[in-house]
Amino acid sequence: MPDPAKSNDDERMILDSVEQFLERDVKPYAMHLEHEDIWPEDIVGKMAELGLFGSIIHEEYGGLGLSCSTYAKIVEVVSREWMSLSGIFNSHLIMASCVQRNGTDAQKRKWLPKFASGEIRGGLALTEPNCGTDLQAIRTRADRDGDGYRINGTKTWISNGIHGHCFAVMVKTDLNAEPRHKGVSVFLVEKGEGFRPSRKLEKLGYKGIDSAELLFENCHVPAENLIGGVEGQGFRHIMGGLELGRINVAARGVGVSQAALDESVKYSQQRETFGKPIAEHQAIQLMLADMVTRTEAARLLVYRAADAFDRGERCDMEAGMAKLFATEAAVTNSMDALRVHGGYGYSKEFPVERYYRDAPLLTIGEGTNELQRIIIARQLIARNPI
Ligand SMILES: Cc1cc2nc3c(=O)[nH]c(=O)nc-3n(C[C@H](O)[C@H](O)[C@H](O)COP(=O)(O)OP(=O)(O)OC[C@H]3O[C@@H](n4cnc5c(N)ncnc54)[C@H](O)[C@@H]3O)c2cc1C
Repeated sequence: MPDPAKSNDDERMILDSVEQFLERDVKPYAMHLEHEDIWPEDIVGKMAELGLFGSIIHEEYGGLGLSCSTYAKIVEVVSREWMSLSGIFNSHLIMASCVQRNGTDAQKRKWLPKFASGEIRGGLALTEPNCGTDLQAIRTRADRDGDGYRINGTKTWISNGIHGHCFAVMVKTDLNAEPRHKGVSVFLVEKGEGFRPSRKLEKLGYKGIDSAELLFENCHVPAENLIGGVEGQGFRHIMGGLELGRINVAARGVGVSQAALDESVKYSQQRETFGKPIAEHQAIQLMLADMVTRTEAARLLVYRAADAFDRGERCDMEAGMAKLFATEAAVTNSMDALRVHGGYGYSKEFPVERYYRDAPLLTIGEGTNELQRIIIARQLIARNPI
């Protein structure tokens, strides 16, 4: 568990350096890179120098050892500038956190220092063409073969799929297990013979970061790459990381909501109609008031969930509520920002059209918002039995 005193001391320092990096190295370039869908190589190098690829990896493995609360604040400020960047290090960190929480000592010593430095980057490969929400229905399989396994199957929508080097891949090691989750395992698989991205997927938004289909064709993996060293634990390992993932997606929602608000506050004081700034028209004021209230409420839900996570408490309901509310806030605020900007909101010369294209992804990733409602309701009933 992170040391709170250390977290407080370090938090301002790391947030200051992230904000300086965003101002200097991201702001001038984000719009061009996003519109052209260019993977931001220089920015990724600078993120590695800042230590972002090791944000939540423990210091003994070369990471920054930050708390979830501090990490969520980093994700918020990064997403305020360009949401795609947070995906580049977050999917990677979910993979790293899976090893940190569930890996054997040898796996932690081998992989975590390279993940922390960014020397090996990657992500999480769960989704398949036939299933995303119902992950127990995956078809990718790993069959025992001598001293290792052979993996066959297809993963889709995998963030960092083109530029990443290594992925935590969810497979079936027992096709007939009942219940189905007992047949699920997770392997660390590096690109190479038998494992390649088969195509880059084109998207509405979330550009710059690559989303890809990954193909496994008789890919040989040593048994030492089975996370935790025991078959059948993979579903539990992945589910155990979802709270962190959901808090992070919620923090992205806060970042996009705040960015949409900031642009709207600025523009509404510059643009005049009928002899006065539009900020003085009540119709605009009503939108601004709702936007700032949504953003603040979303932020507080994220802080509350992250605090519970840092205290080691069960927080699936809190993380679910933060994810649901903050990501819907991002969708609504980005639409409101378009309205405040009138015709210019629809123009590629302003960033609000990007928020409008980016925000809907947040309602899908790390468990759709329909699924969040189911989780929240189940926990609500479980915590209030009669
Ligand atoms: C840009 C992008 C990046 C992504 N990155 C990754 C990644 O890095 N790694 C990865 O593994 N995946 C990734 N994904 C995949 C993502 O996690 C899935 O798309 C998501 O989990 C939903 O799965 P699905 O698309 O198969 O939808 P489905 O599961 O088919 O759902 C379709 C609809 O049915 C609803 N639904 C499903 N089941 C229920 C139910 N029981 N009750 C009520 N409603 C239900 C869903 O909410 C949704 O509205 C990414 C997706 C995108 C778009």
